Amino acid sequence: MATIVMKFGGTSVADIERIRHAARHVKREVDAGHKVCVVVSAMSGKTNELVALAREAAPVHDAREYDAIVASGEQVSAGLMSVVLQEMGVPARSFAGWQVPIETSDAHGSARITNIDPDLLFDRMNAGLVCVVTGFQGVSPHGRITTLGRGGSDTSAVAVAAAVDADRCDIYTDVDGVYTTDPRIVSKAQRIERISFEEMLEMASLGAKVLQTRSVELAMAKKVRLVVRSSFDDPDQVPALGENGDWQGPGTLVCDEDEIMEKQIVSGVTCAKSEAKITLRGVKDNPGVAAAVFGPLADAQIVVDMIVQNISDDGKSTDITFTIPDAEFDKALTVLKEAGETSLEFDSISGSKGGAKISVIGVGMRSHAGVAASMFRALSDKGINIQLITTSEIKTSVLIEEEYAELAVRALHTYYGLDIAEA
Ligand code: ADP
Ligand code: ASP
Ligand code: MG
Repeated sequence: MATIVMKFGGTSVADIERIRHAARHVKREVDAGHKVCVVVSAMSGKTNELVALAREAAPVHDAREYDAIVASGEQVSAGLMSVVLQEMGVPARSFAGWQVPIETSDAHGSARITNIDPDLLFDRMNAGLVCVVTGFQGVSPHGRITTLGRGGSDTSAVAVAAAVDADRCDIYTDVDGVYTTDPRIVSKAQRIERISFEEMLEMASLGAKVLQTRSVELAMAKKVRLVVRSSFDDPDQVPALGENGDWQGPGTLVCDEDEIMEKQIVSGVTCAKSEAKITLRGVKDNPGVAAAVFGPLADAQIVVDMIVQNISDDGKSTDITFTIPDAEFDKALTVLKEAGETSLEFDSISGSKGGAKISVIGVGMRSHAGVAASMFRALSDKGINIQLITTSEIKTSVLIEEEYAELAVRALHTYYGLDIAEA
């Protein structure tokens, strides 16, 4: 007998019919004798609706009440999933984050899970119940409902899997695995059978929204066996997990690098849109200048991504360019102009919204020279101008104009031989 966490995303619980379909996947595992915790997202579109309602009520609202509002979507789907399971003859009970409890920090809207006490879940599973846990939410040290940031149900699922020491954490979604790039953008994208935690982490943080970044970090740290698979499969046509948690089914296994025989130079291509760029020219080049620029931005909770600082020609002044989300552009300009009046000296500030960050990712890059150069060539062949570049051991990212994003992703996907072969 194994313990499994099964997470169903928004499209997988979009209506009662889809919930019934998802519940049949759960029943298959229960019938095979496994202990199951289900983690659910809100029904598709629900969280967006709730966020819009909160904004309509007050453009600037109390973060604690924002969480109380947006967390409600998951409570509905957890209740519905339990009722549907019960109707199928599978004993089930729903649990909100605070009931488990899933303890989090008090950073409302982007809280981090600090602890999950597994006793209640163990107790109920041992009594033969399927525990249906609300994703995306927890409880703060002050006893308030918190949410984990958009897409956070993936993280809830991995955290529950770690807490109950699950043999597997299956993320059921609307695609049948992790692809070489977003299959909705590139029809020739291929499903990846196995991907390393590190590559998945890069892919998630660089734009592949199939898993929330934090969920991959957590799975890597806690050694959770993670599978991304489709809830749309016929529940009777896919095998249940084996007794020891063995499974040879469809989907993508996210695992340690040493479980992967064939290491690709490039495993995937990602795209993150709505990136704004800001350039400060003639910044006085003293020790501590970077801190003077990025300190006030951090204080204003603005997350800075790519950073380029030029070597100063005259040893007196330098130019600094960096990227932030489009949504933070106006706030960042205001913060820096204010800093310019006090702690920071520069000649001018400029910037623009509407960039896209395109990245190629692969553990094979560690041992292969020239991936960055070939990437630049492939883009220049399509006439695409590169504005900024950053690299790490297993990825190279460039900032380009958003209107060329799809063209760039397709070109790189083809260039690195990732296109699925024509049948
Ligand atoms: P859920 O509601 O199940 O959490 P999401 O919408 O959050 O689902 O994530 C699934 C979506 O992620 C897919 O529909 C797909 O368009 C998108 N996606 C982006 N990049 C990738 C990728 N590399 N592989 C698979 N899916 C991807
Ligand atoms: N319902 C939340 C969202 O839409 C969490 C999730 O689906 O993972 O962001
Ligand atoms: Mg998701």
